[in-house]
Amino acid sequence: MAVAEFDTPELKEYPVIPRLQEGVMKHSQPYTAKAEFQEKLGFPGELVDNWQQVAIDKMGELNKKYRSLGVYLDSCVKCGACTDKCHYYLGTTDPKNMPVARQDLFRKVYRRYFTLSGKLFPKLVGAEDLTKEVLDDWYSYFHQCSQCRRCSVYCPYGIDTAEISMAAREVMDTVGVGQKYCNEIIGKAQTIGNNLGLPEPALIDTLEGLEEDVEEDTGVKVHFPVDEKVQMYY
Ligand code: SF4
Ligand code: SF4
Repeated sequence: MAVAEFDTPELKEYPVIPRLQEGVMKHSQPYTAKAEFQEKLGFPGELVDNWQQVAIDKMGELNKKYRSLGVYLDSCVKCGACTDKCHYYLGTTDPKNMPVARQDLFRKVYRRYFTLSGKLFPKLVGAEDLTKEVLDDWYSYFHQCSQCRRCSVYCPYGIDTAEISMAAREVMDTVGVGQKYCNEIIGKAQTIGNNLGLPEPALIDTLEGLEEDVEEDTGVKVHFPVDEKVQMYY
């Protein structure tokens, strides 16, 4: 078996927090989902013309639907306890990968359109319009969050960055900028029946080959059923 050539980082008594390098991961964006996969999931195939209004309406809908989202957006006190808890920040040094900064990409737009102070005195409260540049930042940095929730464990208020990332991604889907690796896979699972999009004969052929491999390696005869009623044991 091939072994990767790298030195395992030494565990230190205290973690070393890297120096900030602003914008080093701004360019990092996953491919967008093709229109056909977006549309299969009920989303627009490309960025809609009135995307700002659609996005703001969706933010309002999510805020009403998920009480926790509004609480998370309103309750951060910028204590900084989460800043060095995200592996994406520690691994990239980009300050927008700090959980609080990631949240703020969404929070500043929320403040602008959903709070009185943000509507009246946006600059004073860090509220910003939803521009194309902000949307591009969302696309970069909300896809650099694996929604692992590690940061939320350290937040004294229990703010869950993952939930804010999910909301941002849902808003982006709704305006037509979905992510290929999620949406195409979900689309294939829904329409073809498996996440790889294998047609039935190819899937059956693959599984038959796998049955032979399992038997060869373990001596145990197994059967991987396709479209058969089976008894499940848990
Ligand atoms: S939930 Fe996102 S921001 Fe928080 S630690 Fe995990 S990857 Fe980082
Ligand atoms: S730990 Fe919680 S309250 Fe403190 S900055 Fe991070 S998200 Fe905000």
